[in-house]
Amino acid sequence: MDAITRRTFIAGSAAGLVAGLPTFGNASPELQEPTAAKPAGDKVGWAILGLGGYAMGQILPNLKACERSRLVAVISGDRDKAKRVAGQYGLDQAKGVYTYDEMDRIKDNPEIQVVYVITPPGNHREFTERAAKAGKHVCCEKPMAPSVADCQAMIDACKKAGVLLQIGYRSHYEANNLRAMEACRKELGQIRSVTSDHGFNIGRGLWRTQKKWSGGGSMMDIGIYAVQALRYLSGEEPTEVYATWTNPPNDDRFKEVEDTVSFTLKFPSGAVGTGTSGYSWSRGVNRYMALGTNGRVDAEPATSYGGNTLRINYRPAEVTPNNQFAAQMDHLSECIQDKKVVRTPGEMGLQDIRIIQAIYDSCRTGRPVKL
Ligand code: NDP
Repeated sequence: MDAITRRTFIAGSAAGLVAGLPTFGNASPELQEPTAAKPAGDKVGWAILGLGGYAMGQILPNLKACERSRLVAVISGDRDKAKRVAGQYGLDQAKGVYTYDEMDRIKDNPEIQVVYVITPPGNHREFTERAAKAGKHVCCEKPMAPSVADCQAMIDACKKAGVLLQIGYRSHYEANNLRAMEACRKELGQIRSVTSDHGFNIGRGLWRTQKKWSGGGSMMDIGIYAVQALRYLSGEEPTEVYATWTNPPNDDRFKEVEDTVSFTLKFPSGAVGTGTSGYSWSRGVNRYMALGTNGRVDAEPATSYGGNTLRINYRPAEVTPNNQFAAQMDHLSECIQDKKVVRTPGEMGLQDIRIIQAIYDSCRTGRPVKL
């Protein structure tokens, strides 16, 4: 997404995005516990791979707010940019700058404990496998990868190397979303319906509209937040998917990837999930609602970078805002340091890709698809 589109997406939508729970099922979400601040030497060293919009705009600035994580290196296809960013963040130019060609050498740099992959999905697998092979833990951005086979290969590579794999589902670390999950589990009674809409207006000439790099259109990029919301609000996994799509015929943005998708997920309890996703909406939308036998939650914006809201039974929920980016990174650092289980693991990312592929199959065939 180019800078202007990204800005429009964030500000214009008064919004941004979503994500899930440690395990789905009936697990109760817990608010991020404050972690004790550590001296710099005790913090986990992170290398940021891919210096694009999200890395530069959100991740690098928010790393400074982390209690357990610190920036130790940048990895980029553009050496000059990497050197510039390293200078800006006070990194050692000799030990803190790598190009993609050189990145396998990170195995010799013990300061780097985690590689955060923030490139287009088309090369998430390659970079995750290389980081794991170098003995580094991995955080990989959503969507995990274009295919289920890629996701499985990433999980296998990390298991083989004995490293952790976290998917960058920041909403699992954001206070409003965590409160919404808690209300769904404890206060809504039986959940009958969950809905979520996520979309914006995509620019032209971007990797996001090239299937090789994106793996798909709005569903992969932004609809994944709606899929996540339906999963983490219901606390269930869908057993069947039905979906339809619409692709404007004369819009060159949609030659390779889809525009708007409408989908229905059936859950084992009988709860119904409905979602939409789009790349041609006049302005950004990110919202959800869960309706239960004893109450409801709704949020808009629900999954933005900041300014999210939440209502429980029509009243504003009392939630202290937190830094979801720092909380996400500190969670992985905590899992490394204290040997804990990652809340948003590779298996969660793979399940989203499995559901999205079923949505695509249903769009193509016009039939429901069993999961
Ligand atoms: P950008 O296009 O802004 O940046 C991507 C960066 O990846 C580039 O700047 C480049 O960095 C590197 N790169 C490596 N290979 C390629 C390639 N073939 N084509 C283009 N760039 C390449 O994308 P975003 O930062 O918006 O998105 C990156 C990832 O982060 C995606 O997976 C996206 O879904 C995710 N994301 C997540 C968000 C969230 O809220 N969780 C929000 C926005 C994005 P360099 O020049 O350093 O090599």
